[in-house]
Amino acid sequence: MALDCHIEKILWNEDQISGRVSELAAQITEDFRSSSPPPVFVGVAIGAFLFFADLVRKIQLPVSVDFVRAQSYGHGTYSNESPVISSDLKIDVQGRHVVLVEDIVDTGHTVSSLISLLKAKGASSVSVCTFLDKPSRRKFNFQLVGEGKFYRGFECPNYFVVGYGMDFAELYRNLPYIGVLKPEHYS
Ligand code: 5GP
Ligand code: MG
Ligand code: MG
Repeated sequence: MALDCHIEKILWNEDQISGRVSELAAQITEDFRSSSPPPVFVGVAIGAFLFFADLVRKIQLPVSVDFVRAQSYGHGTYSNESPVISSDLKIDVQGRHVVLVEDIVDTGHTVSSLISLLKAKGASSVSVCTFLDKPSRRKFNFQLVGEGKFYRGFECPNYFVVGYGMDFAELYRNLPYIGVLKPEHYS
């Protein structure tokens, strides 16, 4: 069965995603124009990999990039409450402005843990740029560091979404849009 046939509905298509990523990049470029040294963009793998690649290509400043890896869902649609941060940064963020790039902020647990990690490593500010935000599911009210800002692409309704980097059981990350699976595929 073709990939698109697994999708019940599309929430944001490729054009809408690309337009919104351009707006976010323009805003971040403006906000960090006089930042010295230039900011470090830290992507949260794997989910943010497409958003990260699209976003940094539209930032009109020299920046550093690195990844951390965080896992919170295993093979289901419920957060297991304790995200596992399984790989560490190679870039020294001491005294640097960091923009943490996430696919989606749900309970806020993953982002809270990562902000603490970056703060402990001496980042002078930590901003969060998430493609999607599900504020209705928030349990952890994270605190940005220093002059850090919160950027988000879209507010997401309370569905378990896939695509544009986001998986269900390690599938569907390659969809170029954000969608909801047909119920028979969530099993
Ligand atoms: P949190 O720690 O905020 O509860 O969850 C964050 C992580 O859970 C996200 O970075 C993402 O990887 C995953 N997640 C949360 N909601 C969804 C969703 O609707 N779809 C998918 N595929 N992953 C999600
Ligand atoms: Mg993520
Ligand atoms: Mg996942």
